[in-house]
Amino acid sequence: MDLEETFRRSLYTSYGENKCILLPKDEYIKIVGELLEATQAPKKSPRQFYLLKKYELLQCGDVQKLIRKKPNQEHPLHFATIEETFDIIKRAHIATGHGGRDKMIKEINKKYANITQDAITVFKSMCIECQRKRKRTTTKGIVVKPILSKDFSSRAQVDLIDMQSMCHGQHKWIMVYQDHLTKFCILRPLTSKHASEVAYQLLDIYLLQGAPSILQSDNGSEFTAQVITELKQMWPDLFIVHGKPRHPQSQGSVDTANCGIKDMLIAWMTHGTGLLDSISHPNPVEAEPVPVSPISIRQEEIRLQRESARDAQFQQAERMVKRSRIVFSSVQIKSNVTVPIPSVDRGRADPRNIIGVVTECSDNELYTIAVKGGILDRK
Ligand SMILES: [Zn+2]
Repeated sequence: MDLEETFRRSLYTSYGENKCILLPKDEYIKIVGELLEATQAPKKSPRQFYLLKKYELLQCGDVQKLIRKKPNQEHPLHFATIEETFDIIKRAHIATGHGGRDKMIKEINKKYANITQDAITVFKSMCIECQRKRKRTTTKGIVVKPILSKDFSSRAQVDLIDMQSMCHGQHKWIMVYQDHLTKFCILRPLTSKHASEVAYQLLDIYLLQGAPSILQSDNGSEFTAQVITELKQMWPDLFIVHGKPRHPQSQGSVDTANCGIKDMLIAWMTHGTGLLDSISHPNPVEAEPVPVSPISIRQEEIRLQRESARDAQFQQAERMVKRSRIVFSSVQIKSNVTVPIPSVDRGRADPRNIIGVVTECSDNELYTIAVKGGILDRK
């Protein structure tokens, strides 16, 4: 079924609720006829009064067109039939350069009287070009496989915060190193985002608190791999692997933390308020306890705290999966989906999403998606 046909059908489905706005073609022709009759009728019926009040006829060559009756208007507002609507919206959409809903409404309202907002939204959702460049308002909830860490230092994440717009001396980047289980977080200023500098700072941290088994980063697997290679050169015995490049699941907390850290630092730099006060809880959104471990706290207490952090993480993972089930109702096999292309893998002019087809669904609701280039290896 082609787009226009699908679009028309959806308009006819909503026709029931919008009887006085939408006009099927035969209805349009009928009204034109009735109007002609009404203008000539010596004694007018209520229906004829109604029609004369609402519509006016405009002679275009040998065709009669329905326009909205309004005194002294410059441009006539045409009534469009359901059959014409697709072309009208398409023209406006192209004219506005694949414009958004509001742009299109503005364009269309110059000429037409009865194109509904819903119709425009439906059209927009069908435009392939727009689907591909569509921005996602939120990535929260694209949760399918939460990561659970067993212990402190089993998994850690390193991210860079871009501070180039307000650099401090030579330092333009902030490195955020966060342990995945305890959310214990260490900040380091960087002068560049070279892997070697990151590795140097990481080595310093590892010599202090031990190295994690898995290192992951928001900045892409290539970056992480480079950092790890650099680390290995400095510390040949170090054994470390890189985790999945970008994990929306684990990312949630780290992202919020990074935003928080940046905001706090900016506030601190401009107002000079106490840094330590603000930074001791960089992640107030999450419910997990943040165990701080001064030397005096006994091993047992640390163990208990980590236990509870683990529990909390598990609970959160369950919550995330639950929420994702609600937000993303399960997708039918063979239906079309858009898969976001991560910003790291995408050139400036590339579309934001790639369109794929769901080919298979496994038991734990992971989908296999086929795209033009083949089947995506991550579910
Ligand atoms: Zn478009």
